[in-house]
Amino acid sequence: MSLRIAHTNCPACPYSGPAMATTDPAGKPINVCPECSTPLTPKVKPWEALGIPKARYLASRPWKAAKMERKAFEAILEHVTPEAVDCLKREAEAESLVEALGLSL
Ligand SMILES: [Zn+2]
Repeated sequence: MSLRIAHTNCPACPYSGPAMATTDPAGKPINVCPECSTPLTPKVKPWEALGIPKARYLASRPWKAAKMERKAFEAILEHVTPEAVDCLKREAEAESLVEALGLSL
């Protein structure tokens, strides 16, 4: 997945605009506020976090697989690690397969 620099609001200063891509002391890529260097989390659409098309995201309703309200599920997606996203993706795929095959759990 390509690194997206999303428009963001800095929680620590009045800056609003694209985040600046840099690396933390451990060399991990992070986005920071160009004004005050506060680390920023880019606002990624839920389906972008999962790496699937929007239509597929809506059709597979992964929040159902996670047994969560959609809003709560999407709030978590903004903060999850790629490993956790992989796990959610597999669950959603299993769920939509089950539905497509007309099986019930
Ligand atoms: Zn700032």
